[in-house]
Amino acid sequence: MKQRKIPLRKCVACQEMKPKKELIRVVRTPSEETLIDLTGKKAGRGAYLCGKVDCFKLAKKSKALDRALKVSVQPEIYDQLEQDFIRVQDEFLSGRGTLE
Ligand SMILES: [Zn+2]
Repeated sequence: MKQRKIPLRKCVACQEMKPKKELIRVVRTPSEETLIDLTGKKAGRGAYLCGKVDCFKLAKKSKALDRALKVSVQPEIYDQLEQDFIRVQDEFLSGRGTLE
């Protein structure tokens, strides 16, 4: 099977390598906010998670975002991100083919 070169990124929760567009980026902005970046273009240190809430929960449990973003992410930030994650999940999945 012929394969195109697809940029792969690793999910910080389950450690799987996946095409970038199948992952949701979480970014630590220069203004020290931690948020979900659906555009993938925000400035700051980024961490990638599979576009499913299971991986987010795993990241929350194992504090994978703390390690990936090299900051300590407060539990309430995880809670906030989890809510955002659930909210964007549908949008992300439905918009997937049209990104890029
Ligand atoms: Zn994952």
